[in-house]
Amino acid sequence: MRDEDKSKEELIQELIEARTQVLELRILENEHKKAQTVLQNAKNELELHAREIALLSEMSELLQTCLTLNEAYTVVDHTVQQLFDQESGALCVLDQDKNLVDTVVAWGEGNTGERVFAPGDCWALRRGQLFSVGDATTGIICKHVGPPAAMSYICVPMIAQGETLGILHIRSNPWGDSEILDQPIRTAESKWQLALTVSENIGLALANLKLRESLRSQAIRDPLTGLFNRRYMEESLERELRRSARKGVPLGIIMMDIDHFKHFNDSFGHAAGDYLLRELGVFLRTLVRGEDIASRYGGEEFIIVFPETSLEETVQRAEHICQDVKNLKLGEQFPKTEGVTLSLGVAVFPQHGSNYEQLLKNVDTALYQAKRDGRDRVAVAQGGM
Ligand code: GH3
Ligand code: MG
Ligand code: MG
Repeated sequence: MRDEDKSKEELIQELIEARTQVLELRILENEHKKAQTVLQNAKNELELHAREIALLSEMSELLQTCLTLNEAYTVVDHTVQQLFDQESGALCVLDQDKNLVDTVVAWGEGNTGERVFAPGDCWALRRGQLFSVGDATTGIICKHVGPPAAMSYICVPMIAQGETLGILHIRSNPWGDSEILDQPIRTAESKWQLALTVSENIGLALANLKLRESLRSQAIRDPLTGLFNRRYMEESLERELRRSARKGVPLGIIMMDIDHFKHFNDSFGHAAGDYLLRELGVFLRTLVRGEDIASRYGGEEFIIVFPETSLEETVQRAEHICQDVKNLKLGEQFPKTEGVTLSLGVAVFPQHGSNYEQLLKNVDTALYQAKRDGRDRVAVAQGGM
C-alpha cells in the first residue's frame, strides 16, 4: 500500500511504532552504557584486589627473609605506602617492657599524631580490638591521634601468638570524600578488611623476628649481667684482631675483676652478689660505645674489647671505669661504706701481642699486677707506655 493510500489513523499508528522503536533503542543504549560502567567498575575493582593481593604476598615473602626488625620495618614502609596510597598512617610498636609505643613507620601527609605514646593513649590497644572513628571532629578519639580534624581513622591492634605487639593506624578524609570518580569505590569495610589482613601479616612476621632475636640474644649474652658471653667475645676478638691487622689500627683490651668479691658474698649473701654483678653489667653496658664489646669473661671477671683504640685511650677508659664504679648505687640494703672497687689490666694490639692468646695472657698478667699492687687500680701490660 502506498502512503497516500493509507488512512490518517494508519499513518499515526506507524509513527507511534517508529517512535517506540527509537525510544526502546535509546533505553537499550542507556542500559548498555550502564552495564558497561558496571562492568568497568567491576574490572577496576578486580584489578585493585589483584594488585593488593600481589603486594600482600610480596610483603609476606620479603618479611620471611628479613633478619632484623629494622629490615622488616623497611619492607612494611614500602608496602603500606602503595596499599594505602590515598591515606596516611603509621605502624607503632610496643617496647620490650610494654610501657611505650614507638612509631617505626609513618607515611602520608596527614600524619601528625604522637611518635611516642603510652599504650593507654590508644583505644585499640586498651581494648585489644579494632577501633574506628568515622569523623574525628565528633567521635571519641585516641589521645595519640592529635588534634581532631575532618578525617576518619582506624587503629588495628597487631596481635600474634597471644601477644599484643602494637597497632597499624590508618587515617583519611571522611570515608568517601577522597574517592576519585573513575576509581573503584573502596568502602570503609573493604579498607578495614585490608588493614586487618595487613596487620595480621605484619604481626606474625614481627613475632617471628622478635623470637629469633631473643634466641640469638640468649646465645650470645650472659643472662645475669646482659653483657656478651665469653664465647661471643672470643669470636669477636679474633675477628676484630684480623680487621685491625688489615687496617693497621690498634685495638685495646681491658680485663677487670671485682676486688674482695668473696668477702661481699660472705657478708651479704649470694643473692646480693648476683645483684652487684647485674648492676655492674648495666654500668659497663652504658659506658661503652656501640662498636665496643663488653663481656662477662667468667665469675666476677669482665673483658671489654675496644676496636680502633690506642693504648693511651684504653688506659684513660680503664681509669674512668676504676673511678666511676665507686659511685655505683647499690641500693638501701647495703651499707654506704661498702663501696665496690675493681682491679683492671690493660693491653693493646699490636704492642702487647699480635694474636688472641698472647693478648689475653698479657692482659691477665697486668690484672694480676694490679691486684698485687694493692687493688683498686689500673696496670698496663709489660712493654706498654
Ligand atoms: P680478689 O680481690 O683477689 O679478686 O678477691 P675475690 O674475693 O674477689 O676473689 P676470689 O677469686 O677469692 O673470689 C671470687 C668470688 O666470686 C668467689 C665466688 O663465689 C664469687 N662468684 C663467682 N661467680 C659468682 C656469681 O655468679 N654470683 C655470685 N654471687 N658470686 C660469684
Ligand atoms: Mg675478685
Ligand atoms: Mg676473680
